[in-house]
Amino acid sequence: MALDIQKIRAQFPILHQQVNGKPLIYFDNAATTQKPQEVIDALSNYYHMDNSNIHRGAHTLADRATRYYESTRTLLKDFINAKEEAEIIFTKGTTEGINLVATCFGKKFIEQGDEIIISTLEHHSNIVPWQILCEEKGAKLNIIPINEEGEIDFEAFENLLSSKTKLVSIVHASNALGTINPVEKIISKAHQVGAKILLDGAQSSSHLEIDVQALDCDFFVLSAHKLYGPTGLGALYGKREVLDAMPPYQGGGEMIKEVTFAKTTFNELPFKFEAGTPNIADVIAFGKALEFINDLGKKAIKAHEDELLSYASAELSKINGFIPVGTAKDKVSVISFNINGMHPFDVGMMLDANGIAVRTGHHCTQPLMQRFGIEGTVRASFAVYNTKSEIDTLVASVAKIAKLKN
Ligand code: PLP
Repeated sequence: MALDIQKIRAQFPILHQQVNGKPLIYFDNAATTQKPQEVIDALSNYYHMDNSNIHRGAHTLADRATRYYESTRTLLKDFINAKEEAEIIFTKGTTEGINLVATCFGKKFIEQGDEIIISTLEHHSNIVPWQILCEEKGAKLNIIPINEEGEIDFEAFENLLSSKTKLVSIVHASNALGTINPVEKIISKAHQVGAKILLDGAQSSSHLEIDVQALDCDFFVLSAHKLYGPTGLGALYGKREVLDAMPPYQGGGEMIKEVTFAKTTFNELPFKFEAGTPNIADVIAFGKALEFINDLGKKAIKAHEDELLSYASAELSKINGFIPVGTAKDKVSVISFNINGMHPFDVGMMLDANGIAVRTGHHCTQPLMQRFGIEGTVRASFAVYNTKSEIDTLVASVAKIAKLKN
């Protein structure tokens, strides 16, 4: 059934404002999504009614906060179809999830001469941790090239795989171009040489149905703020046997079973990787964001976003001087482009003057921009609350701007 977009929009207070004298059109969803009222209320309710440290308290508030916190873990387990809650580790976000794996998996399993594979499409957070690890360990970082459309060269990937490959870490859907990678094929090939595989799900998790058991990935990372939830929060999924084999990330409270000055034993999963008092309020509010998505249904969300994507792509490509960057067949609702003769930043500023929020620049994917020989792009990215009429305004504004130089 088609979604009632006006009813959905009514749940997002931030959308109902004027920016620069124009109604706000928010097309920067790949950077972060807006939050429904229920998520905002959950944050304030927690501090009004439930604030307490979790897991250790023997009083009602502690018990309530612990139950709410852990219920988000269960929601997230179901959201990505993990086998058990123990495989869901709360982090600060995708960045911390990848750094955790680079640090802990790297410490135990990466040795001199080993190889790690990433792709040209990666966000800096899926490049730099591996560079640091490879430098430390004397390992090699191999990069899968892409074609002009922004799709990975699968044959080149197969050629990079060998018994030396210990890990493949790849973006599920590109934040800069929208490309959806053929992850099923990638995972199966990686496993054939005995490598583990991490999927960067920062973008895919809000657009695609995720089933980590069916995918058979070893790690999956995501950020709550791209899923209509709070900033500075995310999660790492890892298969139990892999997480069990890894040393802890940080030492402190919560992650221990017993501490003596002679020896410390570590807590069970997932707590082994959650040292210190966690981000309780935001985790609880994230649960509301997941319920919001579940209520709408991922299929219906994707159908709406796909419609916006194909409409916007068709209309924008009619504009003289419009240069799309990344034209993969399989994409999430992200359109990256340039206007002939214009700097992306200037285009972004002019759109902002019309109340339209887009992102401009390298989108934390500098090597990808270098691959296309450009400094950056203008990126419009759509979420469930966006409408065709907002796209009409974008298209009219881009057409006007493009006319200045074309
Ligand atoms: N990976 C991708 C594909 C992203 O789009 C982002 C955020 O833009 C990240 C990683 C980093 O996410 P965070 O900043 O929430 O840790």
